[in-house]
Amino acid sequence: ATMPPLLSAIANAGRHGVLVKSAVVMERLGQVDAVALDKTGTLTEGTPRVTDLRPLPGSGLREEELLTLAAAAEHPSEHPLARAVVDAASERGLGLPAAEDFASEPGVGVKAVVDGRTVEVGAPARLLDEARSPVAALAEELEEFGRTAILVLVDGSPAGVLGIADRPRPDAAATVASLARLTGTAPTLLTGDNPRAAAHLAAEAGIDDVRAGLLPQDKMNAVKEMEGAGRKVMVVGDGVNDAPALAAAHIGVAMGRAGSDLALETADAVIVRDELAAVPTTVALSRRARQLVV
Ligand code: ADP
Ligand code: MG
Repeated sequence: ATMPPLLSAIANAGRHGVLVKSAVVMERLGQVDAVALDKTGTLTEGTPRVTDLRPLPGSGLREEELLTLAAAAEHPSEHPLARAVVDAASERGLGLPAAEDFASEPGVGVKAVVDGRTVEVGAPARLLDEARSPVAALAEELEEFGRTAILVLVDGSPAGVLGIADRPRPDAAATVASLARLTGTAPTLLTGDNPRAAAHLAAEAGIDDVRAGLLPQDKMNAVKEMEGAGRKVMVVGDGVNDAPALAAAHIGVAMGRAGSDLALETADAVIVRDELAAVPTTVALSRRARQLVV
């Protein structure tokens, strides 16, 4: 017996490392005419590394003390930046004190009590009011190099800044170009990261339309706006912060290898083999199957 075209397309997508959750999803994939991509973990490899340790002179902390506090607070988090901080500490053989009262806010950062001190780690612009402070200047200096700067607060006071670097995926630019060709529209970048780091990555991936500094609901609203203008939007993301946008999209696609559980559950399709280039391939498979469905 021959398989119905949409079912063989699902099997075919599976061979390319994409898990498509239903025949309806397989059909909808071919209708997509606009794409919004997340940055960290989606267009980038998602294995960022700590490159800079900058304790503030007034904090009284040495580099390794700053890293120890930040890593202890980040330890329970599943965010790629958190893993970078924890890895940097273990590479230096630093023992981590236990974190208590851990809390995380998607798109912002984490907070925990470490050795009796309240430690917050996250986006400088979200944790700090004064944009013109010395810390903001230090963060901007790192961001000019395409780094993601994260701020460490101890008991509410700035203690230092960490610089983190992540590489674009080797297939990022080719995937962006294929998606532009297939959909007839240049893809959009939606990121919670700062505008300078976002612009750096966008240039490497060939994206002009960049929206940075977005909270999870801002990403969702950007998608709803595109859908409201009559577009059928595909969102590709990996994080808890992408879940509302994945849910609002015509099609949500999650990066499987390092994606958060929430993103995997919310998405309509999952890239299991970690190859971004499988996304345009799957859109093309849907288009071909739809031609065969009468
Ligand atoms: P993206 O949209 O690029 O995947 P996120 O929305 O996950 O990025 O994060 C946006 C910003 O929030 C990060 O660049 C960082 O400054 C901050 N942030 C979020 N989670 C964490 C964390 N666990 N540790 C440090 N910073 C964080
Ligand atoms: Mg992400």
